[in-house]
Amino acid sequence: MFSKILIANRGEIAVRIIRACKEMGIATVAVFSQADRDALHVSLADQAVCIGPAPVGESYLNMTAILTAAIETGAQAIHPGYGLLSENPRFAQLCAQCGLGFIGPSAQVIARMGDKDEARRAMIQAGVPVVPGCDLVPDLKTARVQGEAIGYPLLIKARAGGGGRGIRLVESPDQLEGAYRAASAEAQSAFGDGGVYLEKYLTSVKHIEVQMIGDRQGNIVCLGERECSVQRKNQKLVEESPSPAVSPQLRAKLFESTRRAALAVGYENAGTVEYLLDRQGNYYFMEMNTRLQVEHPVTEMVTGIDLVKWQIRVAAGQPLSFTQEDVRVEGSAIECRINAEDPKNQFRPSCGTVSLLHQPGGPWVRFDTALYQDYRIPPFYDSMMGKLIVHAKTREEAIRKMKAALSELVIEGVSWNGELAMEIMDDPAFRDGSYGTDFMAKRGMVC
Ligand code: ADP
Ligand code: ADP
Ligand code: MG
Repeated sequence: MFSKILIANRGEIAVRIIRACKEMGIATVAVFSQADRDALHVSLADQAVCIGPAPVGESYLNMTAILTAAIETGAQAIHPGYGLLSENPRFAQLCAQCGLGFIGPSAQVIARMGDKDEARRAMIQAGVPVVPGCDLVPDLKTARVQGEAIGYPLLIKARAGGGGRGIRLVESPDQLEGAYRAASAEAQSAFGDGGVYLEKYLTSVKHIEVQMIGDRQGNIVCLGERECSVQRKNQKLVEESPSPAVSPQLRAKLFESTRRAALAVGYENAGTVEYLLDRQGNYYFMEMNTRLQVEHPVTEMVTGIDLVKWQIRVAAGQPLSFTQEDVRVEGSAIECRINAEDPKNQFRPSCGTVSLLHQPGGPWVRFDTALYQDYRIPPFYDSMMGKLIVHAKTREEAIRKMKAALSELVIEGVSWNGELAMEIMDDPAFRDGSYGTDFMAKRGMVC
């Protein structure tokens, strides 16, 4: 087992990983930008190293500074969290070259699945159903031809995409040119890769994903599904496990496809396969996320399995101690992302000083956050301030518990989305479980 781990991230996920290390008796090294000197992850870690100025390009994405910090502090492995360098194959490769463990899958698997166009082709080969679509479109002329074949509406998606960026909806052929140029330009500036492909736009669908974990011995175990259909700007807002729309039969099929997907690429460590599910019970592969997911706590609550600890164990070469038959999904868990943003103003990010903070408590209530009273939220990073997660015996009880917890949560000094989260919990389509990815649009909100 590793005796010291460096956490190449910030915010609530860095805190989450430090906690797992503490429980495992592993020393921790935090890295931080000049804007994050007062951040919680810095004070919770055993050691902390400043890696550069505020912009992520000069700090949290600065591979040389991070690797140097790891070597100088004697860390044996790096946990990348989510976002930032977590899906960067070059970083995973450099860790290996420096003799450091990378807590995630191999650089080769990250590169293959990070190219969403290549991932689609690999899944077709593995016998996993994919959304009808096409390979990379090199120019507008090809896009027109492929667009006719796929039919409208369709989505233009960036092959290097993530976090909902580089996606454009095209409702009719006359919109294709503008959307093609916009998606390519956005992808080029966000990911340094303007490559795009087309997918049929499926309506009346749910976003369902399966959490899996694999070890070096070749075992793959699926840890239930999560439903993440409540989204704004193609980004998740509320997640739950299990999904109210997944029957035991459908779950078995989803697990089978996920196993195939993982085995086809020789997957090691924790990963997620995302699908779209239609009203007829057909599901289609969308992408594989080769990292820990933001919404992993709902899976932890219903399975009782600590995903971060298992990520560390399998990265250190330990085999999984449980098989597929051992995994039991009990009760229902819901997560609301608590974002510093204004839902009434197109979700514009807000920042400022947290002048008053009261965190909810009570049984089976978990608030993963890096906030503390008087903390000044820096304007340079993600707007997510925390994740409120509850667990109960039934879905109805979990919804009631979430409402109670939301009503207790006090964050003053910044705009945040608590009122909206409460409204979602009361929405009839959320309550009866029939909601799809068009949920927010139906509520008249940007999505
Ligand atoms: P999840 O699938 O875990 O819900 P998201 O897609 O919401 O993940 O992204 C997780 C985090 O990582 C978010 O903070 C998002 O902004 C960030 N992120 C996702 N993809 C990228 C990327 N390619 N580059 C930079 N940040 C990303
Ligand atoms: P990202 O890498 O940015 O997370 P995804 O491919 O996972 O991109 O898509 C993000 C979201 O966009 C999905 O959760 C879903 O709501 C919507 N979406 C993606 N592909 C389709 C599609 N073909 N039809 C309808 N909605 C889609
Ligand atoms: Mg996705």
